[in-house]
Amino acid sequence: MTLPGSPFLSRRDGALTLDGVALQALAERFGTPLYVYSQAAMLDALAGYQRALAGRRHLVCYAMKANSNLAVLQTFAKSGCGFDIVSGGELRRVLAAGGRADRVVFSGVGKTRAEMRFALQAGVRCFNVESESELRRLSAVASDVGVTAAVSLRVNPDVDAGTHPYISTGLRENKFGIAHDHAVAVYRLAASLPGLRVAGIDCHIGSQITQVAPYLDALDRILDLVEEVEAAGIAIDHVDLGGGLGITYTDESPPRPDELVSQVLARMDARGHGRRELLLEPGRSLVGNAGVLLTEVLYLKPGEAKNFCIVDAAMNDLMRPALYEAWMAIEPVRERQGQRQRWDVVGPVCESGDWLGRERELAVDEGDVLAVLSAGAYGMAMASNYNTRPRAAEVMIVGGEAVLVRERERTTDLFAGERPLPSVG
Ligand SMILES: *Cc1c(COP(=O)(O)O)cnc(C)c1O
Repeated sequence: MTLPGSPFLSRRDGALTLDGVALQALAERFGTPLYVYSQAAMLDALAGYQRALAGRRHLVCYAMKANSNLAVLQTFAKSGCGFDIVSGGELRRVLAAGGRADRVVFSGVGKTRAEMRFALQAGVRCFNVESESELRRLSAVASDVGVTAAVSLRVNPDVDAGTHPYISTGLRENKFGIAHDHAVAVYRLAASLPGLRVAGIDCHIGSQITQVAPYLDALDRILDLVEEVEAAGIAIDHVDLGGGLGITYTDESPPRPDELVSQVLARMDARGHGRRELLLEPGRSLVGNAGVLLTEVLYLKPGEAKNFCIVDAAMNDLMRPALYEAWMAIEPVRERQGQRQRWDVVGPVCESGDWLGRERELAVDEGDVLAVLSAGAYGMAMASNYNTRPRAAEVMIVGGEAVLVRERERTTDLFAGERPLPSVG
């Protein structure tokens, strides 16, 4: 049987393994719910980008919001990767993991003064600026700190990435980016403001994109602008095409990173932009297929209309199904003989939207461990404490050994910052 997603995941004598390590043993040793990542799978995904970019001026900036565990950041930092951050907190994580600030690009529509100040003092490589107001604010903060901020304008290329509306970001109606028609004027403003230096241009058209064409459309729109801006006397050094490359959750067949990159580079060459530095901000495609979420079956609840398989992981642990109606493969960790039945796999949270998978054909029993596949991206990173549920532990497989890279949260941690009201009277 083939498993969607990662070549690092396989079944041996009925037992599911990640990177050669039996997942049942990890569930028993560390408890459930448990995120498990393969470091080798992450490095393999990164190598796909780096191979295709070899010999070119480039920087791969891992979009760390996909999975910001320090061990993941360390893994990428050691391999020469930079980071795409969207908050001051993410910058603190990069520094804590030994990453270099001069390989960080700072994205996001709502950077605060404090975040700008911190990033300037740390020496981030570039700010991806999303509005005129932000540009003025950054100019003021940089002047105040006494440094020059390198800026790139995030331009909205108005291309349809053909993805879910919540994760499509490159259309005119999205909150992200500066409208293509205004971009030249905003570059003129950037060039005139104190404390700023124009460094590049960027876009990010969406997520879980499964074709090359939207990237080439966006690139063409961006290069048109580069030519216009440079004709106005403002030099642009780098082009940052953002992230968004999809992964296989079920039967999608997105281009491999090297296929995407080689077509992008070919288009840049064809348009005479071959010597320009290329930045990319992949998130999901570096980590998504490298992780699974393990969960134990608590109760089977067969019913008239539906059968419910109630597990110990819930929407607070893995939000993608509830938030985007995302389909993620669910596999028993140990194959069980017997009749398959159709189950809705649901968590204990008090919401009807708390499900991990609907109408799945599974042979399961209480106490079995299930694996939700392709859970390495936007899994733990989006986890919450809803229903006062401590967040899961995380394990990384490094050279065949399982390493605990995040302890399971303790319930008392969840209300440690809360203060009972002083007693009255
Ligand atoms: C989320 C995000 C990314 C990464 O997107 P993926 O789909 O995970 O590759 C890159 N750049 C920006 C600005 C983002 O917001």
